[in-house]
Amino acid sequence: MPVSGLPPYDDANIFARMLRGEIPCNKVYEDDWALAFHDIHPQAPTHVLVIPKGRYCSFADFAAGASEAEIAGFMRAVGKIARDLGLEALGYRLLANMGADSGQEVAHFHVHLFAGRKLGRMLAST
Ligand code: 5GP
Repeated sequence: MPVSGLPPYDDANIFARMLRGEIPCNKVYEDDWALAFHDIHPQAPTHVLVIPKGRYCSFADFAAGASEAEIAGFMRAVGKIARDLGLEALGYRLLANMGADSGQEVAHFHVHLFAGRKLGRMLAST
């Protein structure tokens, strides 16, 4: 049961189906802990989604429920992906939506990685 207040993890969510190979994704990277792929509606020249392989609805769920190995493996994967994409020199932004106010659409924890232009204000004004 997720700690986040979101409904229980739904194995039919789109990212779970990608992890099972039931639907294709434009893969950037994969290891034991993470899968990364290009967002279908990119909001920057580089817009990659990084997801853990475990069944976690949200950041809150992942932070509370994942093992230390899963958390370390996932965080290292995010760093490696950014490095391998050559993003460190000009920089990038990481973002994780959690719950209703954030507008989280897909209830499988994911980190957005944005890069490739000046990314502007941290938050929209509305
Ligand atoms: P959230 O709003 O949950 O933080 O972000 C979900 C992201 O998943 C959105 O940026 C959306 O464009 C992306 N997305 C939704 N469906 C698909 C899909 O089928 N394929 C890919 N590659 N991205 C998707």
